[in-house]
Amino acid sequence: MKYHITTYGCQMNVADSRRLAAELEQLGYRPTARVDKADVIVINTCVVRQQPEDRAVNRLQNLKPIKEARPEVVIALMGCLVGTRNPEATLRHRYPLADVFMPPSDARPLVQYLAERHGDRLGAEPGCGREQATDRALLLPLHDRGRLVAAHLPVVLGCSHACSYCVIPYRRGPERSRPPGEVLAEARSLAAQGVKEITLLGQIVDRYGMDLPERSSLPTLLRQLHEVDGLERIRFLTSHPNWLTDELLHAVADLPSVCEHIEVPVQSGDDDILRAMRRGYTVQQYRDLVGRIRAIVPGAAVHSDIIVGFPGETEQHFQNTYDLLAELQLDKVHIARYSPRPETLAARQMVDDVPASEKERRRQALDELQAGIVGRINQRYLGQPVQVLVEEQQKGRWRGRTRGNKLVFIEDPRDLSGQLVEVQVAWAGPWSMVGCVA
Ligand code: SAH
Repeated sequence: MKYHITTYGCQMNVADSRRLAAELEQLGYRPTARVDKADVIVINTCVVRQQPEDRAVNRLQNLKPIKEARPEVVIALMGCLVGTRNPEATLRHRYPLADVFMPPSDARPLVQYLAERHGDRLGAEPGCGREQATDRALLLPLHDRGRLVAAHLPVVLGCSHACSYCVIPYRRGPERSRPPGEVLAEARSLAAQGVKEITLLGQIVDRYGMDLPERSSLPTLLRQLHEVDGLERIRFLTSHPNWLTDELLHAVADLPSVCEHIEVPVQSGDDDILRAMRRGYTVQQYRDLVGRIRAIVPGAAVHSDIIVGFPGETEQHFQNTYDLLAELQLDKVHIARYSPRPETLAARQMVDDVPASEKERRRQALDELQAGIVGRINQRYLGQPVQVLVEEQQKGRWRGRTRGNKLVFIEDPRDLSGQLVEVQVAWAGPWSMVGCVA
């Protein structure tokens, strides 16, 4: 019995797919890279923009010949296309090829479906396939065991913020933190299986614990995780400017295992657009925040996201974003073209009035600006030693990341997998660096 999982979208989906793979293996399934050989096919979907949604739906349609040839194949749709509130009947009507529908972070529907199919009661055991952690799901999939160096660990599920463009709150449900005990148990288990770096995930990860009866917080959690044996590095994302406190920044600065890497999206460099996006801060407040990050956490790598072509974004609004990026000199910026999403305030109340060609022009302009900025930032590392955690071999070179999350390729005949090494940088471009172990 074989399974095949295709994953679209964010790191949260990557983590959800890994957890699902572990659950399927507990049921006796084994992975296959060939979708036509699989007995269970899962598509873990993303709908944050129209493009990934189209990709996932096409992928599903392409399974039609397989399903026709072998009707016993189980096809499961997972993630944000399914959501937490779409009634099963609607989904069945819309996606008749799929047998099972799984909300984000929830393996239960498929595990139960397969258990029933096999005629045993595995799936009905209490706790089995529950959303997030179960003891069984703490095991990594076979392929990753002893091999996976850097893993994602979801700590805040859902989101209650409701930025006007964003569909995530409608698909992943309200914000809920996982209890610290559960997070720590999972981190210890990952470390025991060879994982050296974890990235804590949440839509607004800085809000960790605020909804829990026992009131934890991200700084407290970071301090607890810092004590976990075997964990060399800890990261967290994504931050929201309003919740990234000085206390949190001091925890980053003080805890050696917590990396100087902050992902805090600004989305626009214009106050009118930020207001229409319902982001809850001004450009000046973001500028001050970047200043605070750099003052409290020396050498911090600051990453951001931008949306171009939001409804009503004029050339002047866009220019303000361009000027802000030129000023702030951030280490990485992800630029997306605005895509209206069902249910969101922007889709309901605003006109998508920036033409596609203009969105693309603005995207390219920011991409070019940012490539120049990062190219220059990375030149500073030439001839310098950087600390790299080596993840895996890729095309004959070792691939790893610096504490600031910069990609580094290393030429070395030894087995460096999972090792922390000092690398002398010999070449640096905007997207990666190359070097040798110092
Ligand atoms: N809560 C996280 C993740 C949001 S989704 C955060 O704040 O970053 C990741 C990125 O996708 C967002 O930062 C935003 O830049 C982009 N995005 C979200 N909705 C979008 C939309 N409707 N159109 C285009 N980009 C969008």
